Amino acid sequence: MNEHTFASRHSTSAPMPAVYLDHHATTPVDPRVAEVAIRMMVEEFGNANGVENIHGERAASAVAQAKERVAQLLGAELGDVYFTSGSTEAIQLAISHSIGTRRAPLRIAISRVEHKAVIDTASHAERIGMAVLSWIDVDDKAQIDRSSLLSVLQGGVDLVCVMAANNEVGTIYPIGEIVRTASEHGADVLIDATQAIGRMPLNLEDLGAAYVILSGHKIYAPKGIGALISPVFEYSSIFGLQGAHHPTPNVSGIAAFGFACELMELEGEAESRRLTQLRDQLQERLHSLVSGLIVNGPETARLPHNLHISAPGAPNDVILSRLRGKVSISTGSACNIGAQEPSHVLRAMRLPEPYIDSCLRIGLGRTTTANDVERAAVAIAEAINDVRSSFSGVLDV
Ligand code: PLP
Repeated sequence: MNEHTFASRHSTSAPMPAVYLDHHATTPVDPRVAEVAIRMMVEEFGNANGVENIHGERAASAVAQAKERVAQLLGAELGDVYFTSGSTEAIQLAISHSIGTRRAPLRIAISRVEHKAVIDTASHAERIGMAVLSWIDVDDKAQIDRSSLLSVLQGGVDLVCVMAANNEVGTIYPIGEIVRTASEHGADVLIDATQAIGRMPLNLEDLGAAYVILSGHKIYAPKGIGALISPVFEYSSIFGLQGAHHPTPNVSGIAAFGFACELMELEGEAESRRLTQLRDQLQERLHSLVSGLIVNGPETARLPHNLHISAPGAPNDVILSRLRGKVSISTGSACNIGAQEPSHVLRAMRLPEPYIDSCLRIGLGRTTTANDVERAAVAIAEAINDVRSSFSGVLDV
């Protein structure tokens, strides 16, 4: 063994591990969920499509149980749950299905603050002549502008794409009201619930959404598993060739996702209360340590684990490089071939440029403690204050 590695591993002055506060990007797999995934891979490894033997039967019954757990968390019908590799694939299936069943080109209305997985899919459909897009404006808290929604709907829309909660500033949307308004105008609705599930009340019973999108890796399940929940979806009607053959189900991922949903059902509400408190503590602490700190997004209709801030005068890429190895947070905006683009969400909110250039997204999670919050507050404040003093006079703030 390399002595240096051994010595540094056993040194009493080993650096503290970085505090992970980027739970909007992804979550660690909960060890209880990992146990289910490993058991399914090692012991219950049968092919759920091949139910001609006991192994296949057990795998198929694990998939059925996972469907029940997902459906139960959201008040959905069992038969409406379709497992996918994550939210992006679920979005692509849903939009393809809508094109295949309603009309082409499909008239899609999208809020300006949707995730790139929705925007890019719809924009691609538009480029190949399969969709025509219209955009729904938002206000300075990223909340849907009702008059913009109405005027877009009056122009004729087949599918409205909105999220249940925003992945950058955490805004929670009135999806019941949006679905009602859209249906009155004859439009279907796709709800991207990727960031919302388990973290806020979400009941699909009676909601009437045509498509709801979920991902496992945002709720402590492994990456590579998610679901489309839809009462209208059929593989045979999608625009494309998917569905001609049913691939071997990812049984371990599906079972793990199902169990992660069950844990959310059992623990989500209490956990959201705990995280709201910790988030509020972090917000207060940062306010006390950093002058002129801005909190973006709404104060109340906000995801419990979300804190999105700007520190005008301190470019966010420089802050992040100072925090490297100490605190893992992010800008939250899309990454384009390795380069960070300014956030389209903050642009749609019409925030001033210095807010956009200095924005930081913080996402707390299941393993976050009060001690982590304190360490993070001090490190983030120190980084911002350092960067501000080294950039003062360089930047016009
Ligand atoms: N939609 C939202 C709101 C997201 O936050 C994400 C991931 O960050 C996605 C969609 C894409 O999810 P996945 O990684 O499961 O494809």
